[in-house]
Amino acid sequence: AELSNAQPSEIVLRLAGVQKYFGSVAAVENVELAVQKNQLVTLLGPSGCGKTTTLRMIAGFEFPTAGQIVIDGKDVTYTPPNKREIGIVFQSYSLFPHLRVSDNVAYGLKRRGVPKEERVQRVREALQLVDLGQFGDRLPNELSGGQQQRVALARAIVIRPKILLLDEPLSALDAKLRQRMRLEIRHLQRQIGMTTVLVTHDQEEALSMSDHIVVMNKGNVEQEGTPSSIYRQPKTSFVASFIGETNLFKGEIVHAANVDGLLVFRADCGFEACIRKADNLEPGRQLLLSLRPETLTISPSQGEAEASPNALRGTVAGINYLGARTVFEIKTPTRDLMVSVQNDAGSEAPVAFVEGQTIRLSWTPDACQIVEIN
Ligand code: ATP
Repeated sequence: AELSNAQPSEIVLRLAGVQKYFGSVAAVENVELAVQKNQLVTLLGPSGCGKTTTLRMIAGFEFPTAGQIVIDGKDVTYTPPNKREIGIVFQSYSLFPHLRVSDNVAYGLKRRGVPKEERVQRVREALQLVDLGQFGDRLPNELSGGQQQRVALARAIVIRPKILLLDEPLSALDAKLRQRMRLEIRHLQRQIGMTTVLVTHDQEEALSMSDHIVVMNKGNVEQEGTPSSIYRQPKTSFVASFIGETNLFKGEIVHAANVDGLLVFRADCGFEACIRKADNLEPGRQLLLSLRPETLTISPSQGEAEASPNALRGTVAGINYLGARTVFEIKTPTRDLMVSVQNDAGSEAPVAFVEGQTIRLSWTPDACQIVEIN
């Protein structure tokens, strides 16, 4: 059964004002978090942003310096890990090498005193869920990396935890397998309805797997929301450039456009862009404009002045053919830009531009993402 996000939300995990210092180092400065039942929430951010420390506090491996952690309405801030009913999958799998797959999965049940018969039944079910029904008798080193990761997953979910924690679970796998495991984990998580917190620095992983993304930066939550809202409405330059590629321009709003509903933004580097009106935008307002590479249209320059709004003249400085798309590096008098063009499956050549060619870049007002309004 697919989970329904329409239900009135039930918060399974809540972090309130959580902070963690190691000596004078603030690993986590202030994190607020509310995870709804059956949702997959991702803590995403660059190395050192505090996401692992946050996860370790949720697990109980670290205690916060300040703040509160609540699971199912119960304050567990200082509760030891084994009393939290949490399942964890680590990047390194951490399987017991000398135990067979089924005994690895049974481990947590044994420790909890689950009777043998029930144990055998639950281990079988868990292994079937991760598609390893036939592998119970193998040793971990007789399995591929992806299979070992699935054993780790089975071991975590067999105890029916209140929350599943995934700490960079896919980073040890090769690119192809990683992509498949993303889908598999997401499918399983929905199928059994498992409240999950995932930690990753991989923005693609976060975008493809999450119901909700929490972008962290320097120990704080920088922005949170659905994957598409994070991508389409980044609120800071950090989020705009960390999630996806983008071209950022500093500038200010100069006046209302002739066309109703639009304002004219003038970039410090010279060009003008028409952007959509919004309540908090008015002439004189400084802001950043984000233009995603895939929203720019590249066309041969006709030699006319590209002084019209929403257009720029440049030269092709680099062509990166990537199969499905081609990424162009474009030089303009003031700076370089990136443009991504979808390749036509039928045609042999990517797109007919050559290095050194003078081209015109253009975009629509809807392509203009406004970030960091000061
Ligand atoms: P990564 O992806 O590299 O693991 P991260 O976002 O998970 O990074 P954390 O591991 O949470 O970041 O670390 C946040 C900050 O806290 C870093 O500056 C790190 O050096 C510091 N830190 C983490 N654990 C400790 C520790 N046990 N003692 C001292 N400093 C620590």
